[in-house]
Amino acid sequence: MSKNPEATDVVQAASQSGAEITEPGERFFKAHLTQLQEALEYVELENHVRLILSEPKNEVIVNFPVMMDDGSYELFTGYRIQHNNVMGPYKGGMRYHHDVTLDEVKALAALMTYKCALLEVPFGGAKGGIRINPHDYSKTEQERLTRRFTHDLGNNIGPEYDIPAPDMGTNSQTMVWMMDTYMNMHGAVDKNANRRIVTGKSLTSGGSRGRAKATGQGVVYCIQEWANENGLRLDGARFILQGYGNVGSHCAQILNRLGAELVAVQDHTGSVYNPEGIYPRKLSQWVERTGGVAGYDGAKAIDNDEFWGVESEICVPAALELQIDAEVAKKLKCKVVAEGANGPTTLEGDKVLREREIDVIPDVLANAGGVVVSYFEWVQNKRSESWQLQEVDSRLHFMMKRAYHEVRAFSREHEVDNRTASLAVALRRINAVYVERGVFP
Ligand code: NAD
Repeated sequence: MSKNPEATDVVQAASQSGAEITEPGERFFKAHLTQLQEALEYVELENHVRLILSEPKNEVIVNFPVMMDDGSYELFTGYRIQHNNVMGPYKGGMRYHHDVTLDEVKALAALMTYKCALLEVPFGGAKGGIRINPHDYSKTEQERLTRRFTHDLGNNIGPEYDIPAPDMGTNSQTMVWMMDTYMNMHGAVDKNANRRIVTGKSLTSGGSRGRAKATGQGVVYCIQEWANENGLRLDGARFILQGYGNVGSHCAQILNRLGAELVAVQDHTGSVYNPEGIYPRKLSQWVERTGGVAGYDGAKAIDNDEFWGVESEICVPAALELQIDAEVAKKLKCKVVAEGANGPTTLEGDKVLREREIDVIPDVLANAGGVVVSYFEWVQNKRSESWQLQEVDSRLHFMMKRAYHEVRAFSREHEVDNRTASLAVALRRINAVYVERGVFP
């Protein structure tokens, strides 16, 4: 019996009901805890490890003012949640989106801990973000707010401590602003030693070849393994895609090169459909020019219900969390869901997919390519090296394939779904470290 009345562990936290949860970030955090609880049934986790993993180690919140282009000021709230660093420095993206909340970032930070452990990347888990709609701010406003956010995070981030990366609403430009600000804050002589303070930078500013496409590439490596296992020919297979940003657009282009046809896409501007196939490169040019897929002349507009019901073999959600709920899961006409996004499937959605025998390649596995190549970028910066694309891709392929088959083996042995298996493999690894190292003091 704990002397601390507030003490909780993963299982208790997941089952605390309270009032009905309506806020998406809170629902997402709760869903994550429930999934973790399911995985715990298959791993013997030390009690103290359950306690440690139930909450992030650190929650950093900064409020800071930024001058807008018209001379007025706005106050912003920025988050950096550091979930766990027993495996290595905290690592995770920075999200700029109008739905960012503390709970959402907490769940995303925890997912990073499990993702890194599953892939054997020597990093821990973190996530951060600012609650803004980046489309509402000019490039110069975004630069000022990114620089001020980086400044105010101060020593809460660091190249051996906590290393941000891009996520929704941020990109290589955002990372380069963060890097430049951090470098200028920390020493004039050995500035370059700090380049690895962020990953996902442009090639010009110390990024890695293959990083921009890495998450999409990793999703495709998983789909290829699934297709081999299930006798699906990717040449001629159809896929639908939600989200046409970094993850979605690269995934589409790589799958298309393997002969698969993109038949429907949805983003924040609408949904489009073409049963003959949409050419991803042309769509990317359209999105770059207009800001979204709506109005693309190589496909016809459809509504949200029609989008999820489009006949395909593969569905790739690559936008937001909580998109595939029970209703959407009932509509899907695909064989596999490969989660490019983090947390796109609700608990109820997962249940329906299981009942309908639609396989899921879960986020912690499917979209791990981004953090794997971020790790390669960090290593290259540390050693002042620049690897060829072929080397990056082949290392990424090896690590994705190894994790995929580890998950499948666990899933077969214990007769559990891939999500439970992925979390269980990760938890087992983290537990082993805590058992060896113990808890200080
Ligand atoms: P992005 O900002 O580049 O693209 C996001 C896409 O989602 C855009 O096409 C946008 O239009 C779409 N979108 C936004 N709101 C939507 C809505 N309500 N309905 C439909 N579409 C909507 O972001 P990204 O980097 O591609 O990230 C997408 C997802 O992948 C996120 O869940 C992120 O956490 C996850 N992820 C990203 C990376 C990475 O390396 N960038 C790595 C791992 C996981």
